[in-house]
Amino acid sequence: MKLNEGLIYANDNCIGCNHCILGCPVLGANISVTEGESNRIEVDGDACIHCGKCLEVCPHNARECIHDFRMSVNNVFPAVAGQNENGYVS
Ligand code: SF4
Ligand code: SF4
Repeated sequence: MKLNEGLIYANDNCIGCNHCILGCPVLGANISVTEGESNRIEVDGDACIHCGKCLEVCPHNARECIHDFRMSVNNVFPAVAGQNENGYVS
């Protein structure tokens, strides 16, 4: 599991309202994380297919997308792109 370290991630606006879970086509891509008395929903970067649906449905602007071309290619086409030891396209 790559929690909140993929292309799509939850920022500090997240209040754990679960709208993203309801809108996500991938079962288990959104993971509940408890910090003290608060709850937030983070993204499993290994499960997420980067469809962007959670960015649309989140009412709190709590979902963001990393704009990193190399990481994008690596995440979407890992078999084609190949990876170096840092997880980036070489
Ligand atoms: S919809 Fe947005 S605010 Fe609600 S749990 Fe998901 S990321 Fe957090
Ligand atoms: S980008 Fe798509 S697959 Fe990934 S967490 Fe959001 S809704 Fe789910």
